[in-house]
Order: sequence, then C-alpha cells, then structure tokens
Amino acid sequence: MSDRLDHLLETNRKQMNFNACNGCTSCSLRCADDVPATLSEWIAIQTHISSLTGTEKATLSSIIAQNKQMDLGDDVYVGMCRFFDMNSHSCSIYNVRPLMCRLMGYLEWMPCPIGKVVDTLDTTSARALLREYSSVERRTLAEWADSCDLPSDGGCQERAVYL
Ligand code: SF4
Ligand code: SF4
Repeated sequence: MSDRLDHLLETNRKQMNFNACNGCTSCSLRCADDVPATLSEWIAIQTHISSLTGTEKATLSSIIAQNKQMDLGDDVYVGMCRFFDMNSHSCSIYNVRPLMCRLMGYLEWMPCPIGKVVDTLDTTSARALLREYSSVERRTLAEWADSCDLPSDGGCQERAVYL
C-alpha cells in the first residue's frame, strides 16, 4: 500500500467514531459478495485468520460454508459476502474488514440508513482517500480467495490451511 494511501487512511480513520455501529446490523444487507479489497487488506484478513484458535477457525469455516443466498422474497436473491454470518447477520472478520465496509454510513453519499452515524467524513478528504484507494488493484474477497498468483501469505496455500 502506498505511503499516501496509508496517510489518507490514518487521517480519515481518526475522524470515524464507530460507537454508533457497535452491535448494529441494520445495514448488513450491503454485505454483498462484490465488496472489493486490496491485496494488503486480503493479507490482513489471512493474518487475522492464522491467529485464530482451532475452534475459532472451525467456526469461521462453517460460516464460510453457509449458503450465502439471501432470500429477499418475490424470488429475489442476493449473494452475500463469504465472511457474512447468515445466522447473526454480522461480519465474522469485523476487526479486519476492508475499507469499503468501514466506510458504510460514513460518507456523505453512502449515509447510515437509520441515521445513527451523525458525523460523516469530510467529503474532500474522503474523495482523496477513495481516489488513491481506487488506484490500487482490488478484487472481491471471493476472487482473492480463489487467486493462486499471490505471495505465499495470501494465496491458495493459506486458503487450504485456514479455510
Ligand atoms: S452505518 Fe448505521 S446501520 Fe450501519 S452499522 Fe453503523 S449505525 Fe448501524
Ligand atoms: S467483510 Fe464483513 S463487513 Fe465487509 S462485506 Fe464482508 S461481511 Fe460485510
């Protein structure tokens, strides 16, 4: 990740107060399977998974193995993120979720759907962050999981070990 992106991430992170989101799952339907992540974010997720106990890994594996089709009624289904727990409607890797997940509710153009987050990020600063973030290669979490062209700490080897 570039120094500039690191700096922008840090600056924006300081403006975000996640207390409002604590325990809330009201925007969980946004956890669709096309959320993008950078390689750094994918490696952070893999590192987190590698630090879990055997029991925690087994729990995570069972969440990943769930049927991720969310039934919205009227024969409409949404494919949810591999890390979305279909039972609790929560994120199973919350502390290491990618940037786009963290920004939900904190952008002027992506506000909290229930109005609990009152302080959105400064728009100029958020735009600069997203411009820089967009310049880095991003893939969906499923695509990273299926990738075999990654460094040894992010690719298929780890998928076989941890997931
Ligand atoms: S952004 Fe709003 S709806 Fe989403 S978790 Fe935070 S408080 Fe809940
Ligand atoms: S990583 Fe977590 S917060 Fe992000 S889309 Fe997946 S389940 Fe939702």
